Amino acid sequence: MMPIALAVHGGAGTIAPELMTPHREKAYRSALEKALRDGHAVLSAKGSALDAVEAAVKALEDDPLFNAGRGAVFNADGQHEMDASLMCGNTLRAGAVASVQNVKNPISLARRVMDHSNHVLISGLGAFEFAHKQKVLLEDDQYFFDDLRYDQWKKAREADEVVLDHSEGDRKFGTVGAVALDEHGHVAAATSTGGMTNKKWQRIGDSPIIGAGTYANDLSCAVSCTGHGESFIRAVAAYDVHALMAYKGLSLQQAVHTVVHEKLPKLDGDGGLIAVDREGGVVLDFNCSGMYRGHVGPDGECHTAIFKD
Ligand code: ASP
Repeated sequence: MMPIALAVHGGAGTIAPELMTPHREKAYRSALEKALRDGHAVLSAKGSALDAVEAAVKALEDDPLFNAGRGAVFNADGQHEMDASLMCGNTLRAGAVASVQNVKNPISLARRVMDHSNHVLISGLGAFEFAHKQKVLLEDDQYFFDDLRYDQWKKAREADEVVLDHSEGDRKFGTVGAVALDEHGHVAAATSTGGMTNKKWQRIGDSPIIGAGTYANDLSCAVSCTGHGESFIRAVAAYDVHALMAYKGLSLQQAVHTVVHEKLPKLDGDGGLIAVDREGGVVLDFNCSGMYRGHVGPDGECHTAIFKD
């Protein structure tokens, strides 16, 4: 039987262990497990890696604990502008949306961009028009409202700062993502985020940028990133993991280590990434204090973690 594999993340950053109550930790772990179960159900039913990562990310978008979909951070205008992307390692097709509002599941809109348009990345009002046409689920502003995120935004606005969700030790985290290998030997990756708190000028991070926050190629691996988006864009982080494997012959572990611990820190790139290779090897690595993460092992069991092991 061919191996299948799945991993998810819910953001990486300065997670303070002393602020992580058992109750809070349990809530994060069960949210990650739900996403793993949703994605794994697709893979176990012989579904595609692409469908599995979409299902897993949707589950995380629907949970207000994470900065994606419901629970996305506020921008400088007090609104939620969300970014998402996904990529199929078999066909190298990809879809992405940036600065979209009121879309319940930005990852599913990205999927529709891939499947039902001639484009890879669409944004703003145009993406909203496309969402309407595609009849994807829309929600009013109230659906996305979250008290903690609102307080987080008010603080950032008073200080006139643009804040990475992760840098708030006592707050909720983070961007979400998934990577998978299906039994046909194909890999896929997906990432979704509300971006940075108090962001202006329709700032767009790495999450909807293919090669930066998301990349998948059956030749090597599938990658989903989380962290300081500007640095991940400059490092072309997700593609670099692929390139180190494809052109330099590094293993998945070595390639991820090089990007996360050698290349990104030189660009102030705090954060981490999850990746899966064609053999079903999974690596979840980060260069900060923690990353909400989980994977389904060969035993079919869900394993979740937050801090360094
Ligand atoms: N990478 C995301 C961005 O810069 C943020 C995150 O990972 O939390 O928009």
